[in-house]
Amino acid sequence: MTSLRLFALSFPVTALGPGNRAVLWVAGCARGCPGCISPEMQPADAGREVPVPVLAERLLKIEAPLAGVTVSGGEPFDQAEALAELLERLLTARPEWNSLLYTGYTLGELAARPYAARLLSMTDILVDGPFRRDVPQAHPLAGSGNQGVHYLTDRGRSLRADVDALPVGGMNYGLSADGTMDMVIGVTSEAQRRGTPLRGAPPGSCDGPAPEA
Ligand code: SF4
Repeated sequence: MTSLRLFALSFPVTALGPGNRAVLWVAGCARGCPGCISPEMQPADAGREVPVPVLAERLLKIEAPLAGVTVSGGEPFDQAEALAELLERLLTARPEWNSLLYTGYTLGELAARPYAARLLSMTDILVDGPFRRDVPQAHPLAGSGNQGVHYLTDRGRSLRADVDALPVGGMNYGLSADGTMDMVIGVTSEAQRRGTPLRGAPPGSCDGPAPEA
């Protein structure tokens, strides 16, 4: 059975895409970008293994109405097959949902890798490129200005105005999957994170939030 290495899961989240969303942070990223703000998500053995069918069933049981699912990390495309299987299950059961993925790779890099094609084909909106502290944020969904926001499908393109209308610095709060870490969720500035009363913030990496214990 295919499994996904999951670091955290939260819902409903409004700060990482249009509408109420389920957000997954996958564990493991081999890129090792200097200045990565979620180093705790980089180890391949961080988080825990969850069978894809179990995770899909859990997400489909969420009672709150959702607009879609966002996947961040860690590096989603390092688990491309498992994520593709998960999204296939979710979007088949909930065809009204949309998908938004973060990746530290560029779209050009992914387009050249056959293993990424299936997951890309199920991605409505892709935020690409590594988080860089030295490039100021220029988009509500991108933590640094070097990152691009790509609308890959008709459904994704139909959401462009909703995405552009998202507030810069929107935040939600949550708990890590094992309940041990408070989370600040969203593409937040360092000043915002310092102002939070929470003790830590695991989610983020390429989407911008950072742990500030
Ligand atoms: S910034 Fe993104 S791509 Fe780079 S090491 Fe961190 S999680 Fe990986």
